[in-house]
Amino acid sequence: MTTNRTALVVEDEPEIADLVKFHLQREGVDVTTTRSGRRALELARQSIPDLMVLDLMLPDLDGLEVCRRLKEHDETKEIPVVMLTARGSEADIVAGIEMGADDYVTKPFSPRVLMARLQNAMRKRNVQGVEQQDNVLIRCAGKLIIDRERHVVMCDGKTLSLTITEFEMLFMLAKRPGFVRTRDQIISSVHGPLTVLSQRTIDVHITAIRRKMEEFGESIETVRGVGYRFTEGERE
Ligand code: CA
Repeated sequence: MTTNRTALVVEDEPEIADLVKFHLQREGVDVTTTRSGRRALELARQSIPDLMVLDLMLPDLDGLEVCRRLKEHDETKEIPVVMLTARGSEADIVAGIEMGADDYVTKPFSPRVLMARLQNAMRKRNVQGVEQQDNVLIRCAGKLIIDRERHVVMCDGKTLSLTITEFEMLFMLAKRPGFVRTRDQIISSVHGPLTVLSQRTIDVHITAIRRKMEEFGESIETVRGVGYRFTEGERE
């Protein structure tokens, strides 16, 4: 018997729920759907899915609350969550990501973007354990090496000179390629006794990192109104 990956799709608009279900099933994923946030929490506790696709506007509990409750409990907090949001709702996206959602897809979405994001999120669980103790990140087909222990960034054979803050920001973003980080998440991850960061200074540091990385600077993508994301060439 093979065990398929499982996904729980929480969406009250039947056409969208069916569309997401269709594309996941085509990839061999077993899909359960519900239109209720409360029911979603029950289902997730009964059988931990490999992925939750979560609409923000639900008839009972809203998606942010579902995400908050999910992340509150040890048994459900590792479930990767991808939010479905309306285009232009940056405040919701920021709130969701800070609540612990891993990613988001804005409606209307293309199946290609949807599946890329969902596959990425499902991989997260396998990757995470490894990366936590991993102090050397190898990205961009081996051309970018970020070594945290030695505090060295090598870009196509050239050693870059980054400040501590720039280094930590790059490491944090590159650790999870494809996942957007909000400015507040960057601040709290990099913030130390010697570094005081504001939302505005984040942008200044990013500009400096990009400049030092030259052509690889493009791997740090601006996500308008939300934050930044490290990419290895795959764009929407
Ligand atoms: Ca809805």
